[in-house]
Amino acid sequence: MIRPRAIAAGVEAFAARTPTLPPATHTNSYALGGREVLLVEPATPYEDERRAWLAWARGLASQGRSIVAIAVTHHHADHVGGARFFAAELGVPIWAHAEAAPRLRGVLHEVPVARRLSDGEVVRLDGPAPMALRVLHTPGHAPDHLCFLDEAEGVLVCGDMVAGVGTILIDPREGDMAEYLAQLERLAALGARVALPAHGEPIDAPEALFRRYIAHRRMREQRVLEALAAAAGEGGGGGEGRSGGAASQGGATLEELLPVAYADTALALWPIARLSLEAHLIKLEREGRAVRREGRWRRAAGGG
Ligand SMILES: [Zn+2]
Repeated sequence: MIRPRAIAAGVEAFAARTPTLPPATHTNSYALGGREVLLVEPATPYEDERRAWLAWARGLASQGRSIVAIAVTHHHADHVGGARFFAAELGVPIWAHAEAAPRLRGVLHEVPVARRLSDGEVVRLDGPAPMALRVLHTPGHAPDHLCFLDEAEGVLVCGDMVAGVGTILIDPREGDMAEYLAQLERLAALGARVALPAHGEPIDAPEALFRRYIAHRRMREQRVLEALAAAAGEGGGGGEGRSGGAASQGGATLEELLPVAYADTALALWPIARLSLEAHLIKLEREGRAVRREGRWRRAAGGG
């Protein structure tokens, strides 16, 4: 692996090993800007990788460039494992979304989130070719997720919205499937020339990939609805005579729905798929299309 790697004018990538979700093994950091540089993703917690990363960052400084801050796309451990260390070593502040600040407290200890970035604001980086980065708040994978768009060049730093390698997990404990899909739509409409994910290679003309992700999730949602329908068909005549209301009883647990809705998915991925399944069901529940009672799920009467 060649690192650092020049991606475009004023954009360099540095992939460092992190404790991330297999098959991904590394998290990309990006240096954005000319004379003033914003570093995105202080990812690696590993000593050897931190040394290499720090040498890269110091190399930028030795070219007469000035690191203005380290920005975090979101608080996940494979993105912020070096945040406190790099901020201290380089003497630069950490920038993140407001939602990241409480989530990073344990990671950063006494280091504060110095600037809370919000949707729509522009980070200006000075230099011979000044760079203006539009901040996009894109929750769904994580509540604090940010993307950075160089509008002039069409370069989108997209964090964990999509991946060049591996999949994006929507964990129902903090993720939101409906939000995620809405933000993917938004990213698709940007018309970016290249997307730079946290994991994997740069993605040229990324609209197609954003649309594939959306289509894939919609396909899965359909499978989940079909699994609910199948469960209702099989379990309708249980004869237990529960009289909990006018609605039909029964339904299915996550464990019962999983092998049906994810029949095409390798067994090894089922623990991840189970989380995705729950995120889909919660979306359907909020839309009035599925109902949960005592850990059992069924299709809402009259729901799509
Ligand atoms: Zn993440």
